[in-house]
This record gives sequence, structure tokens and C-alpha cells, in this order.
Amino acid sequence: MHNKLNGSTADLLEAAHQSILFTAKRPELVMDRGEGMYLWDTDGKAYLDFSGGWAVTSLGHSPKVLQAAIAKQAGQLVHASPGFYNKPMIEFSKLMTDISGFDKIFFASSGSEANESAIKLARKHGAKNLSGAYEIITLTNSFHGRTLAMMSATGKAQWESLYAPKVPGFKHVPINDFDACFAAISDRTCAIMLELVQGEGGVYSVDAPYLQALRKACDVYGILLIFDEIQTGLGRTGKMFASEHYGVKPDVMTLAKGIGGGFPLSAMLTTNEYDLFEPGDQGGTYTGNPLAMAAGMAVVQEILRLDLPTNAMLMGQTIKEQLASLAEKYAISAIRGKGLLLGFSVPEGTAAALAADCMEQGLIINAPNASTIRLMPSLTVTETEIDEMLLMLERSLIKLELYAAQKETAAVRA
Ligand SMILES: *Cc1c(COP(=O)(O)O)cnc(C)c1O
Repeated sequence: MHNKLNGSTADLLEAAHQSILFTAKRPELVMDRGEGMYLWDTDGKAYLDFSGGWAVTSLGHSPKVLQAAIAKQAGQLVHASPGFYNKPMIEFSKLMTDISGFDKIFFASSGSEANESAIKLARKHGAKNLSGAYEIITLTNSFHGRTLAMMSATGKAQWESLYAPKVPGFKHVPINDFDACFAAISDRTCAIMLELVQGEGGVYSVDAPYLQALRKACDVYGILLIFDEIQTGLGRTGKMFASEHYGVKPDVMTLAKGIGGGFPLSAMLTTNEYDLFEPGDQGGTYTGNPLAMAAGMAVVQEILRLDLPTNAMLMGQTIKEQLASLAEKYAISAIRGKGLLLGFSVPEGTAAALAADCMEQGLIINAPNASTIRLMPSLTVTETEIDEMLLMLERSLIKLELYAAQKETAAVRA
């Protein structure tokens, strides 16, 4: 028997509890509409979104250019088949290879799938050119996705025993420790994969000399260097790609999140040298799907047209300066990150409560762990919206009594 919902928030929530598999603790509200930096729930309450839909809505919520591109393409061709070329697929491939300096691209729908492609390519390289090498070195505290293989690639302690047996062939080493990475390289190694700013891990950046040393080691041993730019790519860090901060070019780069501005889309890029797949090696029903390609095209063109990497750099600096002055009065420290992928520390165990109180006020911020707040707003964020965010953040800091004095005790304890 299927009873129609009456549309009230209470009715919707009851149906949600009954019918949605419990995989996430969600607040008791239902998101209904989005525009720019704001989301509105079904009761009409507004939320200023400094999580950017989880670093996804690069142009803000439901941007007009994305609406128009999706509507236009939907009227033309939603899906042909992965067995055919389509026009938006070709146009978007050309745009992405032009702006990234890579030669070849493969599209999928999620970040995990793009990373799976990168791992498959690395293992193909190992099989073909490195006498069967298959191991991939990744970093502890990293995040690469939720497919079984990407859970093995991810260096998250809580996932160690989840869904055993793990996919073999991944080794984890600490960030910015070249000796540890060098010691992990063997004749079984085919690739090193890392994020340049660990996002889910709490906003920790790699150092330039470390990254340059990894590049050299990969060149010497003929192993692939893979940058997971799923969170850092397409303007997020104040450059089009985070690798530009370091002057280090990888052999493979993966993108997702911001590339579709909310439409499910991801990509793996590589050079002609590693154009190693043969027909049948890799695929997917939705690879190069016309609707997704039109969405990606609209988003990336708008990022270029508005020079959003520069806005991300400038607004990121503004947020950092303002947070630094808040830190004189309140228990916030270790302000870090690049562009609009920012983090700061709060006393251990208070991050979730702080994020929850902000949410109550109508501000969405993210607490990736018990002592970190992460900000990753849309690349279009303005100073007015930053001021508004800081006002609500300060109110929550006062309400939770997170004053600078606490920071001292927290530091002494640590
Ligand atoms: C989000 C993310 C992923 C996973 O992307 P999904 O689209 O959730 O599969 C992988 N790597 C990084 C760095 C991410 O931030």
C-alpha cells in the first residue's frame, strides 16, 4: 500500500525515518531550495552554506547557467550510449585537456570511480612496463572514496577492519615524510597517489619540497604520480588546480565535486605517455553522458569566465585574516588551508557542537573531526557573506563559551 505524503515537514521526516537506510546522522529538517550561498528548508528557514554542498557547488546553489545548460541539453539528448561519441562529450574533453595541460580524459560520475580509473591505469602500467608491479602508496589520514578499493586506498584508521577482507595492494605512509615514502617504494610499486590538501582528513597541505622529491622518485623508478584533486581542483584552492601552487605536474589527475557544480560528474586525466587502456579495460554506462557533459561544460566555462580561482584566493585570504582576529578572543587556532578550502582547530571534542549551534542559527559549516572546523563555500562567495558567516560563528563561540583561555588549556593538554 502506498500512501501519498501530505507534504508537511513532520510527515516527510516520518517517511524519511521509515524508508531511508540509516547511513548518515542528518538534522531533523528537509532541504527544499537553493540559490547562491543559501539553502532553504521546507519550513522556509534559510541557511548560509559555508560547506558549499560539501565542496561541490562551485558556482553556488542551482546557478542559472547550470539550469540553462541542463534544460537545453535535456531537450536535445539526455543519453545516447557509452558506445557512441556525442557532441558535448567531445567539446568538454577538448576544453578540459586544453585548460589542464593533459592529453587525454576519461569521465565517470563520482570521485571514487575517477580514482578507481587512476588505480586501474597505474596497475596497467605496472603490468605492462614494470614487470607486474601493482602496489600503490597512499597517505595516512587521506580520503579517496568509498568503493571497496578506495576504502583500501584511504588512510583512515576507523576503516581498517570495515568490510574485510580489504582490497590488497595499498601501503600507507605519513604525509610530508619523504623517507617513509622512499622506504615503502619497492619493485612491486606502480604508483604514488595523494591529495595536495587533505580535505576530509582535516585540511592538511603537502609541503613543496616533499612533493618535488616524490616527483623525482617517481621519475627515477618509472612509477606514476597521481594527484587526487577531487576536492582541490577547479579553483577551490585559489588556482585552477592545486598542483599549480607547487609547480609539480602529476602523470594522472582526478577531478569530481566542483566540476559538475552539483551534477554528478568526475574525470581522470593523463598524458599520451600513459594512454594505456585498450577497449574493454575501462568503461561505465554513464561515461561521457551528454547531460553530464553539458553540465560540466557550463560550470567550467563559468569558472573561467568569472576567474573564480582568483576570487577563491582573495576571499580565502579575507577569511583567514578575519579568523586570525577572532582567534585573539576565542579558542580557535591553527588556521590553515589554501583558497576556499580552509580549516581551523577548536578544543578537542567541541567541533560537532559548534557546527550544530551554527546550523541552529542558519549557518552551515563542517566538522570533519572532533577538533576541526572546515570551510569550503562556493567560489563565488562575497565579503558580505563572509561577514555574515563570521557574525554567526562568533555568536556560537560565545554561546559555547569557547574563549581564548580555553585554547591555552587545550594547548597545554595536547
Ligand atoms: C569526496 C572525495 C572523494 C570521493 O568522491 P565521491 O564522489 O564521494 O566518490 C575522493 N577523494 C577526495 C579527495 C574527496 O574529497
